[in-house]
Amino acid sequence: MTTMSEAVTDVVVVGSGLLGLSTAFELLNRDLDVTIVGPRTGEHNGQASRAAGAMLTVFSEVEATHAPDRIRLEVAQRLIARTGYQAWLDRIGEASGRQVPLIPGVWVIGNGYGTDDTAHLKAIAAAAEAHGSPAEFAAPGDVAGLAPQVRASEALWLPDEASIDPGALVEALTTILSAHRRCRWFNSAATGVHEHGEHLAVQVADGSTVLAAHLVLAAGAGVTGLLDADLAQEVAAPPLRSGRGVSVVVRAPFALPAAVRSPNRGFACGSHMVPRADGRVYLGATNRLSTEPDYGRRATLDELATLMHDATAELNTTLRDAELIEVRVGHRPVTADHLPLFGRTGHPMVHLATGTYRCGVLLAPHAATIVADGITSPGSTAEHPYSPRRQVHVPALQELIATSTRGLVEMLCQPGGSLPAGSQELLERFLGAALHEIAAGSSPRAVAVRRLWERAPMAECLPLLLDAAGRIR
Ligand SMILES: Cc1cc2nc3c(=O)[nH]c(=O)nc-3n(C[C@H](O)[C@H](O)[C@H](O)COP(=O)(O)OP(=O)(O)OC[C@H]3O[C@@H](n4cnc5c(N)ncnc54)[C@H](O)[C@@H]3O)c2cc1C
Repeated sequence: MTTMSEAVTDVVVVGSGLLGLSTAFELLNRDLDVTIVGPRTGEHNGQASRAAGAMLTVFSEVEATHAPDRIRLEVAQRLIARTGYQAWLDRIGEASGRQVPLIPGVWVIGNGYGTDDTAHLKAIAAAAEAHGSPAEFAAPGDVAGLAPQVRASEALWLPDEASIDPGALVEALTTILSAHRRCRWFNSAATGVHEHGEHLAVQVADGSTVLAAHLVLAAGAGVTGLLDADLAQEVAAPPLRSGRGVSVVVRAPFALPAAVRSPNRGFACGSHMVPRADGRVYLGATNRLSTEPDYGRRATLDELATLMHDATAELNTTLRDAELIEVRVGHRPVTADHLPLFGRTGHPMVHLATGTYRCGVLLAPHAATIVADGITSPGSTAEHPYSPRRQVHVPALQELIATSTRGLVEMLCQPGGSLPAGSQELLERFLGAALHEIAAGSSPRAVAVRRLWERAPMAECLPLLLDAAGRIR
């Protein structure tokens, strides 16, 4: 029996970022009743979706050091998302009366800032060509808006990539969902979930309870800890951490017709500028792993300094005169194997739409389809490589140290780029050797380092390990 403060629905979606809203939109299109629990109004501090550059980067996320299997898998999934993106935006435009323009093309530039830019650009071009997409090398002088301090040595034009304004997309989806007669929206946080007879019960911070046949957890980095202990055990979701990113929007003193980015480096998505409406330009982005995301913490001066320095040095020196319009912080949800979590979990009523890390704006409609398929055709997505029931490969600490000290040194060198000739390799080798020794030891320092790695077993954890190793005596 339900009480006055209980609502019953087919599906409750927890989280109101792009993953939650896209999934709700898809479920409504399949004639289900949907209840969203998550902030609709307010500042949306910490939300990744509104902080994103929102480049639709199918190929330019590829790194030369990625394993061929991983490149094949991720590029294929991103390509599915990209192929249907314009049609999805058209559907949203029609239903909301708000058009979200897609700006075609992304430039990737290589320069002396990155130790491996030439190799990365080659790997990106090879991935595009392997999937029949054009990738055209050009002179850096041909890149509109590029006027850096550090001379670019090469440029790659990817006409099939694109960018959008994620704020406009969130607003358009919000318009549709707020007005939809089969959608209810609690403008509040979920505080817990437990089983309740044949339903799942979601508690809402405003005191309400929502009962549902299915639950979609799309609360980004906030997913962790929502389920009660029994449910969490059955769901058995792979652990989720978050990469905190800071970005800004400025009024730039130059025209920017298409996004320009460097390759990934130092565990981040490089420096990039993305055109927005009315001559505004987005600049991104930092990436720092947090084991417990703090949604209330604003951008630090160090994060802003890194962003500004790299943007003026690598992209356009006149950004120094740009007018600052907005600063955003977002927590990118990420798993240990860096692959998303889409679809049914170990519990038949609990589904995940998260773990999208740096590609969630691109992947949102694809995720929504997979999650909705798992609800309307149970079992149909069980074998999907992004299924939460997959075996997540957790790299050993020694393996991470061996493969990722270069990224660590690149990150330590920010802002400003590189150390004197030869010193970078020297530091890389020394840090690798020192971390190996510490990790293998039995001192309190070694125990603390291993404990930290157990909480976040991924390459992005190395800066935290370095910090922890230095603090403990
Ligand atoms: C700086 C930056 C740049 C990026 N650039 C790109 C890019 O160029 N291209 C791209 O494709 N992707 C990019 N991304 C990644 C992309 O933004 C994310 O993968 C995606 O937005 C994640 O969406 P989400 O809905 O899962 O999470 P979020 O957008 O973080 O939304 C989660 C929502 O859940 C809410 N929530 C949390 N806890 C609760 C709770 N208990 N109850 C209810 N609601 C809760 C939060 O308030 C939040 O609104 C970028 C991310 C960042 C931070």
